[in-house]
Amino acid sequence: MITLSNIQVTFENGSQSVTAVQDVSLQVDAGDVYGIVGYSGAGKSTLVRVINLLQRPSAGSVVVNGQDLLALQPKELRLARKRIGMIFQHFHLMNSRTIYDNVDFPLKSSKLSKRERDLKVKQLLELVSLSDKLDAYPSQLSGGQKQRVAIARALANDPEILLCDEATSALDPKTTLSILELLKKLNRTLGLTIVIITHEMQVVKEICNKVAVMEAGRIVEQGDIVSIFSRP
Ligand code: ADP
Ligand code: ADP
Repeated sequence: MITLSNIQVTFENGSQSVTAVQDVSLQVDAGDVYGIVGYSGAGKSTLVRVINLLQRPSAGSVVVNGQDLLALQPKELRLARKRIGMIFQHFHLMNSRTIYDNVDFPLKSSKLSKRERDLKVKQLLELVSLSDKLDAYPSQLSGGQKQRVAIARALANDPEILLCDEATSALDPKTTLSILELLKKLNRTLGLTIVIITHEMQVVKEICNKVAVMEAGRIVEQGDIVSIFSRP
């Protein structure tokens, strides 16, 4: 479903260059909940941004849903990206728009009619248990509720893949668990493939079936959750 091969990302800042990701290969299969763990600065966020080409790699190949993303024309890439949702630590909601409008936003560039969009927005907000917040603004919601809105928005175009960049890091432990429960439900019921970046091992243990450990731009360990955690 996702195959990254020999990915390298180097940032040039004037005379300095930082290699954030170095020769990383990984494979995520359909239905996986794949965790990427490591300390701050390890390159996790950069690596995950490569999956939807928010970050273009300096070298390597990116194959998602059978498509070589680096070979696509801009229009094809836009379509391919709709099949990959993403959520962030700080939610990235539009604060001057209602919850309804936030979730409707990605649907505006779809082929759906206004009526179909309306139905879809309401279904999505029902899925994340926020049907009573259609007319609220983000500032009126708790962190956990904001993340639920972000999840609903990320799912608007029915992606097969959801990328989660420290999605629970700004939340308290109880809210974190409720977001993880929601992600588990989406994985089970929609067959959504999920990639989760986190610095919290507890998150991985709670939800992931596979994990990669990153250190200084490289994957230093990779495998099934059971085999990784049963090693001496
Ligand atoms: P993590 O997500 O594991 O905290 P990041 O991928 O954010 O790690 O960062 C990896 C390294 O790349 C860090 O040294 C960071 O400062 C650097 N980096 C990330 N994004 C950029 C950028 N846009 N320009 C320059 N350096 C960057
Ligand atoms: P969020 O948590 O909301 O996703 P981040 O703090 O992860 O936001 O990153 C914000 C942006 O800053 C990203 O686009 C990332 O690539 C960029 N960034 C991270 N580290 C650096 C750095 N050392 N130099 C320049 N840009 C960076």
